[in-house]
Amino acid sequence: MDYTIARRRMVEQQIVARGVSDQRVIEAMSAVPRHLFVEAGLQSHAYGDAALPIGEKQTISQPYMVAVMTAALELQGSERILEIGTGSGYQTAILSKLVKRVYSIERIAVLAGRARKILDQLQLSNVNIKIGDGTVGWENQAPFSGILVAAGSPDVPQKYLDQLDIGGRLVLPVGDQKQQILVRITRKGKDHFEQEQMMGCRFVPLIGEQGWQGS
Ligand code: SAM
Repeated sequence: MDYTIARRRMVEQQIVARGVSDQRVIEAMSAVPRHLFVEAGLQSHAYGDAALPIGEKQTISQPYMVAVMTAALELQGSERILEIGTGSGYQTAILSKLVKRVYSIERIAVLAGRARKILDQLQLSNVNIKIGDGTVGWENQAPFSGILVAAGSPDVPQKYLDQLDIGGRLVLPVGDQKQQILVRITRKGKDHFEQEQMMGCRFVPLIGEQGWQGS
């Protein structure tokens, strides 16, 4: 299988054709080899229009969802971004190409370890990964110019609002454990936040102190 052709088709048919127009996001998604972030047996499906299993009952997000969430942050290049739910590390890799530094938190150690390995192989060196509960954010690295949450939350954790810089954007799925609405919150001032509802989505649950209870 020619992954370069598959990737070009993915970007044209799933991302550009559906209205994502941020050129830097399009370039990043054209460059990152998504097939390396899934297990060998699933590599031929890596550029399909769907989320895929990555083990530990978790998923690598659908390419379109990665593009929409990344574009919603309106990145310019100088940002420090907090990502919750490293998963396979694919979304992390896309962000790392677009910003100064990515701080990513994953609660499942085996996934964090695998993601670290692939990001190192790809020489994406501007990423810090922490294993732990991302619902409380990353206090000693805050504030962030953007926060991207790749798991569904019952509501908006206060810590994310506290750790967002003025002018910064928080993108997260909010809803029940089966379906959510993708929400973007922009911090306009110290106590002034604006919220937009973007689209329906389905993510695995955000599990932790400020999210869903889990084992
Ligand atoms: N964006 C990722 C990718 O491209 O592979 C997919 C992320 S997957 C949909 C959601 C991830 O969030 C899972 O790996 C899950 O373990 C993680 N997660 C859930 N709750 C979390 C929490 N409180 N802190 C950190 N990670 C969490």
